[in-house]
Amino acid sequence: MKDLLLISILIISLSPLKEPVTAGEVTKEIQIIPMPSEIIVLNGTFEMTGNTSIQAGHNLLLKAEQLRAYLSPASGYKLPINKESAGGNYIELKLSDELLHLGDEGYQLNITHEKVLITAYNMRGIFWGIQTLRQLFPHEILREATVDGVKWILPCVNIVDKPRFSWRGLMIDYSRTFWNTRHTKKYIDAMAYYKLNKLHMHLTDDQGWRIEIDKYSALTEKASKFDTIYHEPKEREGFYLKEDIRELVRYAEARNVEIIPEIEMPGHTSEVFAAYPELSCTGETLSVSPFFKGPGIQNVIFCAGKERTFGFLENVLSEIIELFPSKYVHIGGDEAPKEKWKACPDCQGAIKKYGLKDEDELQSWFTKRIEVFLNSKGKKLIGWDEISQGGLSKTATVMFWRGGMENIALAAITQGNDVIMAPTSHCYFDYSYKNISTEKVYTFEPLSDKLESVNPEHILGVEACFWSHIDRTEPKMDRQIFPRILALAEVGWTESPNRNWDNFSLRLKHQYKSLDLMSIYYMDTNI
Ligand SMILES: [Zn+2]
Repeated sequence: MKDLLLISILIISLSPLKEPVTAGEVTKEIQIIPMPSEIIVLNGTFEMTGNTSIQAGHNLLLKAEQLRAYLSPASGYKLPINKESAGGNYIELKLSDELLHLGDEGYQLNITHEKVLITAYNMRGIFWGIQTLRQLFPHEILREATVDGVKWILPCVNIVDKPRFSWRGLMIDYSRTFWNTRHTKKYIDAMAYYKLNKLHMHLTDDQGWRIEIDKYSALTEKASKFDTIYHEPKEREGFYLKEDIRELVRYAEARNVEIIPEIEMPGHTSEVFAAYPELSCTGETLSVSPFFKGPGIQNVIFCAGKERTFGFLENVLSEIIELFPSKYVHIGGDEAPKEKWKACPDCQGAIKKYGLKDEDELQSWFTKRIEVFLNSKGKKLIGWDEISQGGLSKTATVMFWRGGMENIALAAITQGNDVIMAPTSHCYFDYSYKNISTEKVYTFEPLSDKLESVNPEHILGVEACFWSHIDRTEPKMDRQIFPRILALAEVGWTESPNRNWDNFSLRLKHQYKSLDLMSIYYMDTNI
């Protein structure tokens, strides 16, 4: 494996190479995560000084300002932005149609003694090139105040890079524990630094409704709060105002991160019945309890036989669609308990009326009806893999989570559905490191042997899931996610032949310093 890695790093030597170049030497200078597609290390260095400027055309001024905001605070340099060369050395950002073959997110980074050049087909590629550049600087560049005594030196390199998968995601559970705007922005910043591009916000579940909906104010008045008998700390409950969400969406967009909202249905919805009990099969009013102090996952569910359920969901989704520009809306669909549907005359009536076989088909009918609604608004539906039970629509995207059940993913892909891989075996970061070590995450192969025969284009990518019922403070959550998410970032970005655990673990040690500077806690362990 080491040899393979060397080959991929050296590729074609068009310029004088340091010789001999070993994997060890490369990692000393190239500590980047995720590992780029091709790197050629050249002789010499570039030094950013008080005379360095940024050069960018009119269409890249925003990215140039972003670059300056990344580099100015620690260096203390002004880094003026010019449209034309202004003498001295400089960092240039440039769009080029010639790089169309690197796709939407690919870029080239060329560093010589005189200049740094980031070229890409579009802005997203430019942004990823900027992240690679940040990682090549001494890690003190992440400091927010001027650092004295550091030379801002970059190795001369030619890098050509593009991601393996277009979906490189992280799901955060905001229901079981609420995480505020500051915390979410910290995660968006870290995601951008490691080229992760999808933040999946699990906003509703049995333990709380976390987003303002104008039409149903009781969702936030009642369903966002734990019953006072549990004396839960106030910071663990609450909700996002629409204005907070707009701010987060803007913040994420500027950093190549797309936010995908999740509104759970038809199960994992007992919190809704604290506010609107008439939407369940039994009409019973419930209270919201923390996961381990109450019944955990409840066996109540939206009534599929009452028209008012769909009126509610369509109104809620309409407001969600307005807030989130993503083309995807996640509707959950997992672990929907069917006992209440079995005993409910309205649900049984629906089964009869629509000629369905059983409750699994009723869930499938429910999901398809919601999908038709989302499609009519120009959105695509994502659901957890249970949405395939009872018949899967041909256009839904399936988030595969039940480890060891690749047959579900296989069947969906064979039918032509897109799939996102988030199996419990490698991607559940609420699990302990004993069960899922960083190395285990790193060795995850989304295109496993079982999926060898399928069209790989239907595997959009990978996603880490963090459920917040066990670890409910910021340091604990950080340690569950970091450094495992860095391993998954490389699984999602880097082609398999370029992945090597020994090499990655060396780069990871270097990244710990960067995580410190980003105020991120992490599990410093090799287990
Ligand atoms: Zn019912």
